[in-house]
Amino acid sequence: MVTADDSAEGNVLRRDLCWPVAPQGGAHGWTAVGDTMEAVVKAAQLEGGTEFRKVPIPKVGPNDVLIANKVVSVCGTDVHIWNWDAWAKRRIKVPLVYGHEFCGEVVKVGNAVDWLTEGEYVSAESHIACNTCFQCRTGNGHICERMKILGVDRDGIFTQFTAVPATNVWRNAPGLPREYASVQDPLGNAVHTVFSGDPVGRDVAIFGMGPIGLMAVRICKLVGASRVIAVGHRNQYRLDLARTCGADVVIKSAEEDVVARIKEETGGTGVHEVYEMSGAGDAMRQALEVGRPGAGIHLLGIFTGDVTIDLNALMFRYLRIQGINGRLMWDTWFRMAGLFKAGLDLGPILTHQFSLSEFPKAMELMRSGQSGKITLKVD
Ligand SMILES: [Zn+2]
Ligand SMILES: [Zn+2]
Repeated sequence: MVTADDSAEGNVLRRDLCWPVAPQGGAHGWTAVGDTMEAVVKAAQLEGGTEFRKVPIPKVGPNDVLIANKVVSVCGTDVHIWNWDAWAKRRIKVPLVYGHEFCGEVVKVGNAVDWLTEGEYVSAESHIACNTCFQCRTGNGHICERMKILGVDRDGIFTQFTAVPATNVWRNAPGLPREYASVQDPLGNAVHTVFSGDPVGRDVAIFGMGPIGLMAVRICKLVGASRVIAVGHRNQYRLDLARTCGADVVIKSAEEDVVARIKEETGGTGVHEVYEMSGAGDAMRQALEVGRPGAGIHLLGIFTGDVTIDLNALMFRYLRIQGINGRLMWDTWFRMAGLFKAGLDLGPILTHQFSLSEFPKAMELMRSGQSGKITLKVD
């Protein structure tokens, strides 16, 4: 947790998006002074409740590295924290530097770390596994029992420097654009979900056209899905993005009969793989109906309440439901690097970039739904 300097005038709590005092100094106002740095801190247990604060630069333990953050990106999780919804109330302890998606440069290496050096261009897996529980010791660190998540359970990356265990660090290819490097956490969710099925040469349906759904569209097209059907609810901006990302069919579920349309587009049979990334109960029920017999239904979207489904249909139609969490460590990351090499283009999804000192503006835009992925430059 941060030790905040409560004397600054900028720390007056505000519900709205306008903070009274912008950070001082630097091109964008982000200057580390002595052993302190500027950070975006969830400071109060209410909607908004976020401030710029000066916090200590993290200490680097023997197994850690310190990263100077270069580009960070805003995630739906950060919106939950901003909104202070039921999940955030249960999980988040304030004050907390939030944010977990980033890339940067190694500026300090712990004494016991012998494979990383200062100046390297890196990102980090935001899920910090314990490395000792059953799952961790059997190759399933992504479902570690004692998982700690950056920017959720410990201080995150909406700041200038972040210390992480070296085992969580990922070396980026030198030519990889920083914006791409900063979104590997959500991209990894998409990669993990997509390849828990077998999309190559198959018809697939993707429910939920948030940034991860859009990334899934891109991945499925790149690897040769025969037909990619994108389903969004009513956000026209995101439906248009789905089209730009290459979806073969785009369905607006608020206005169309999703099941009938997908059946029609697949000659009456339904799709081989369904990727559920919306967290909507209706989408889940439709997902079960549009999967052909034997289909895989892969769930990444987070449901806010209970969902009733027809288990007999599931059984008789031999459907498989697979829950997805995080990224395989490190198979997903290697696969992402391979997909970048193969030409994965996230350009259409990275719709906006701001400076980190414009965080409130980015959050407002993110909450409006009129954006794809928003990245923030730190320096
Ligand atoms: Zn995220
Ligand atoms: Zn573990």
